[in-house]
Amino acid sequence: MSTKVVVVTGSNKGIGFAIVRGLCKQFHGDVYLTSRDVGRGQAAMESLASEGLKPLFHQLDINDLNSITTAAAFFKKKYGGVDILINNAGIAFKVADTATFGTQAEVTLKTNFFATRDMLTHFMPLIKAGGRVVNVSSFVSSRTLNQCSPELQQRFRSEDITEDELVGLMQRFVEKAKSGEHNQDGWPDTAYGVSKTGLTTLSMILARRLSKERPNDGILLNACCPGWVRTDMAGPKAPKTPDEGAVTPMYLALIPAGATEPHGKFVSEKEVYPW
Ligand code: NDP
Repeated sequence: MSTKVVVVTGSNKGIGFAIVRGLCKQFHGDVYLTSRDVGRGQAAMESLASEGLKPLFHQLDINDLNSITTAAAFFKKKYGGVDILINNAGIAFKVADTATFGTQAEVTLKTNFFATRDMLTHFMPLIKAGGRVVNVSSFVSSRTLNQCSPELQQRFRSEDITEDELVGLMQRFVEKAKSGEHNQDGWPDTAYGVSKTGLTTLSMILARRLSKERPNDGILLNACCPGWVRTDMAGPKAPKTPDEGAVTPMYLALIPAGATEPHGKFVSEKEVYPW
């Protein structure tokens, strides 16, 4: 049997790093720590090596299409595809940041929604039968959904929303945020929240597509919240350690072979939450 392989984006620190650490202990196969910056990636590798763990490394900047396609080609050639993909990389502006809301919307959606979508576009065809795809979203995606206009909520919750329609809505949010009209257009004042509402909705769209187009492949794709975790993003007051934040993403990554659910769900603390 060929060696199984798992890829974790944005895993040089924070929750992604903890996921790699956990998978090195629990996953029977090759675990790839990836980082947009090779130096930060190597430092993370050395840190895990000092714990006696042996992940592998590949550079991966999800904002760089060339980096995505290079990595995808590497996994295709070396492993014939990917068994588990965890889209963890994400950004958030600090509350004190003085960048305009329009800029925050553009930059935040670029990474958390559009670049994560680019990852999915190029890696979904590589996911092997029995594979698992985990998109690290946030509970904020759900809260933000509830703060959108009834019309937007209806679209984000609908079973017939297409990827193109969702992309159009995310582009519309950025445009309206830049012109200061996002509130009139039905959006709340959170760029991070909208980026994660988009990511959770995208997860549901792609899961429905998998069920339709690869019904016999047994691939499970879900979005999740890691909880509020002490990382550079969330700060020192958050209650969970990164290892605790890794629990739900790892649970979804390691759903046993043959299981049929959860699939296309939003999962927190290992439980499915209504969307
Ligand atoms: P950190 O800021 O600690 O880590 C984020 C990671 O993503 C870093 O490795 C960072 O790399 C990487 N990253 C950012 N942009 C890119 C990119 N373009 N390409 C590749 N990697 C990138 O955040 P967390 O660990 O807290 O967050 C991980 C995920 O969990 C995020 O998606 C976040 O939104 C989500 N989340 C976090 C919560 C929390 O309480 N911490 C709560 C809910 C969700 P670099 O070091 O180079 O910047």
